[in-house]
Amino acid sequence: MSDSQAKLALITGGSRGIGAAIARTLAGVGYNIWLNYHSNHEAAETVKADIEASGRECRLLPFDVSSSDQTREALNPLLEEQAPDVLVNNAGINRDGLLVFMNDDDWHSVTNTTLSGFYNVTKIVLFEMLKHKRGRIINISSLSGQSGLPGQTNYAAAKAGLIGATKSLALEVARKGVLVNAIAPGLIETDMTNEVPKDRLLPMIPLRRFGTAEEVAGVVEFLCSENASYITGEVISVNGGMYV
Ligand code: NDP
Repeated sequence: MSDSQAKLALITGGSRGIGAAIARTLAGVGYNIWLNYHSNHEAAETVKADIEASGRECRLLPFDVSSSDQTREALNPLLEEQAPDVLVNNAGINRDGLLVFMNDDDWHSVTNTTLSGFYNVTKIVLFEMLKHKRGRIINISSLSGQSGLPGQTNYAAAKAGLIGATKSLALEVARKGVLVNAIAPGLIETDMTNEVPKDRLLPMIPLRRFGTAEEVAGVVEFLCSENASYITGEVISVNGGMYV
């Protein structure tokens, strides 16, 4: 595929974990990448180097998705030149703790990153997708947003909100050729799950192992493909059977 034919994917939170795997996977099937992240420049440079080694282009876009000003400043000038074919809203954080002890910052930072982040980035990119009458938007939710988990009231609220937003937006834009879906991963091996008590959790997973970031990225690749052209408003679980 020559560069003038290459499609473009914008991935938020692409410097590490699931987002980095999504970026590498989509680059592997021919996408150029706009790689957003928060502040880990070293990790982002590594992903960029891998993508360039695979023959694709990668533009690093460090900004905080929860800030509408930063999001606009970073994306508006680029969108004048080119519109992404794919947007993956993946940036997210967790600040676990029981609600009764939760402080305001733990609530707001988690909900703002996931939900305001979705809003800030999607609103700008969607406008361009609607103009071109094509696009795929994939939101990385969580099993927590489907089932609820103790200690994750903030995170579950944000991730359940993302599922509602996915379904509503899918209905709003289907006639304009833009497909919107969510993926709900279970326990995936990344920095986010470094500290979780694996021994206690493994018996709760029917497949008896954590998932890999690549296993989530493979579903993103599918949702971006022609094979997924009749799927919208769906939530696809990638959780080893932990919640069915
Ligand atoms: P990681 O902690 O490994 O990576 C998080 C990524 O998000 C990093 O690239 C980070 O950038 C970026 N990020 C964090 N905050 C912001 C922000 N405000 N603006 C822009 N980028 C930001 O997480 P995972 O890969 O594990 O998780 C990715 C997504 O998948 C999240 O939405 C998470 O909730 C979800 N998920 C993860 C599961 C798991 O088991 N790991 C399970 C279910 C869902 P930087 O490197 O600069 O900090």
